[in-house]
Amino acid sequence: MRRWAVRGKAVFLDRDGTLMVDVGYCSRPEDVRLLPGVQEGLARLKCADLSLVIVTNQSGLGRGYFNETAFWQVQQALDAQLGPGLIDAVYFCPDHPDSPSLRRKPGPGMLLEAAQDLGLHLSESYLLGDRDSDIEAGLAAGLKLCGLVFAPGAAPNGDRRVFAAGNFTEAANRILRDVAGNG
Ligand SMILES: [Mg+2]
Repeated sequence: MRRWAVRGKAVFLDRDGTLMVDVGYCSRPEDVRLLPGVQEGLARLKCADLSLVIVTNQSGLGRGYFNETAFWQVQQALDAQLGPGLIDAVYFCPDHPDSPSLRRKPGPGMLLEAAQDLGLHLSESYLLGDRDSDIEAGLAAGLKLCGLVFAPGAAPNGDRRVFAAGNFTEAANRILRDVAGNG
């Protein structure tokens, strides 16, 4: 876990299928491929004074498919492609889906931990993810707005705090409108 002196509002970001192509248990830096619009979208969110915090389930660790060193090598490759310093902090959950876990999404544990560590205001923060479990974690943590990205046509669950976006640019725009008070 990397810790920085961060305070204020954040965008919590799922990793696989949201920032980079989900290749399934990614453990090799050469498999890291950014999804369209991600680099620019994140840069714009960062310019709006939002901290960028990755929260990623990594059951490949709990399953023994790869180790923590491999996880951080993948993160390094991701950071290199995004540009150094863009991501403020990274939280991962190694737990196997079969073991009870508050940290593994849809549990809100990683978000609560980050808020405590970094002094983040959850009720003014956001989340972008590609699965319902991401959204559920964000709602359970009391976030302001949670976006399902790369989900064309996906119906939000009726909660006003949830939106769907066909691509990353659209999702970033939705958050930026909210930050500007034009949500
Ligand atoms: Mg995902």
